[in-house]
Amino acid sequence: MSILVLLDQRGGLKPTALEAVSAGRVIASVAGTDLHALYIGRCNPGLSKELKGFGLKKIFACEDDSLAHYSSESYVAIACELVRSLNPDVVLGSATAVGKESFASLAARLNVELAQDCVGLSWNDGLTATKPIYGGKVLAEMRVSDHPAMLTLRPNLFKISRKGEDIPEIVRLENPEIPVRTHIRAIVQTADDTLELTEAKIVVSGGRGIGGPENWPLLQDLCDELGAALGASRATVDSGWISHACQVGQTGKVVSPDLYIACGISGAVQHLAGIRNARVIVAINKDPDAPIFDYCDYGLVGDLFEIVPILIAELRSLRWMNSNDDGSTRINVAR
Ligand SMILES: Cc1cc2nc3c(=O)[nH]c(=O)nc-3n(C[C@H](O)[C@H](O)[C@H](O)COP(=O)(O)OP(=O)(O)OC[C@H]3O[C@@H](n4cnc5c(N)ncnc54)[C@H](O)[C@@H]3O)c2cc1C
Repeated sequence: MSILVLLDQRGGLKPTALEAVSAGRVIASVAGTDLHALYIGRCNPGLSKELKGFGLKKIFACEDDSLAHYSSESYVAIACELVRSLNPDVVLGSATAVGKESFASLAARLNVELAQDCVGLSWNDGLTATKPIYGGKVLAEMRVSDHPAMLTLRPNLFKISRKGEDIPEIVRLENPEIPVRTHIRAIVQTADDTLELTEAKIVVSGGRGIGGPENWPLLQDLCDELGAALGASRATVDSGWISHACQVGQTGKVVSPDLYIACGISGAVQHLAGIRNARVIVAINKDPDAPIFDYCDYGLVGDLFEIVPILIAELRSLRWMNSNDDGSTRINVAR
């Protein structure tokens, strides 16, 4: 019996990969089973060091420059071959864009069920996954009984935890050089995806209250100060003010940051469906009766065009004080 974690990478292991490995270790230790991982990507000589202390027994590594960028054709074929030969009981991954796509293809190839975007896992003589349904209004506990049980985990929810100094064995896999029909010529980074919304620790979102697309730079300044990703309500997306990639909510992205700052967002249920897992929610709205105030942890009643510049100035001055501090960490800016 074993658990296999498919590692998320983009120019290096992503934190979501470590979250999935940490969750896998907890399950492996309760179930008394081995934990393995699969890395597909460009050659990564630091792999066993990066994954030291996670209780991994083996890392299966298929490394080649041609695998630097995700391609569902080659990645899924490699993962499928390993799953068939290793025969793990559980295959875990991250519910990132790549993770969701590759797991869907892999589950279809293996003809097994798949639980995407799980927010909890437990083991009691079998695997139980907790998964939000009905736009996050209900948490379903599902017994995953197919073999292998395939699950992806929502980013930012599972704590990364190392214990010990164990170094996993690296097992090199041949690149099967699958003939792929899609070739990546270039990756053009847009302003929207400099920091992936679903994986960001801090998200600043704007709603119709920002008044128009010309005011995004104000929220982007706040994002830059906090190291946050920029999100948006559907009203702004539908108005053509920002791309759909930034939409948070039921028909947009589900985010789970430590801090979510909603600026000029009323707090419609469809928007709230996307932020239920945010740890702390701050709302800035000039209407004291806006529904978001029933939901947030901290509410600022006022004009965002007055409040956001004050926040930015405060953050800048804190950062300035920090850099002039004689080495102490008395003032800690979230960056
Ligand atoms: C099937 C369906 C799916 C949907 N999916 C989504 C989704 O995924 N995500 C989503 O967001 N919505 C979704 N919606 C739309 C949702 O119902 C709301 O219409 C939308 O969220 C409203 O966006 P908003 O809060 O930006 O705009 P509004 O509701 O117009 O709110 C704007 C807010 O800004 C405040 N404001 C105005 N000026 C200022 C100022 N200067 N300073 C401070 N505050 C100010 C106002 O008081 C108001 O509360 C969906 C709707 C449906 C029917």
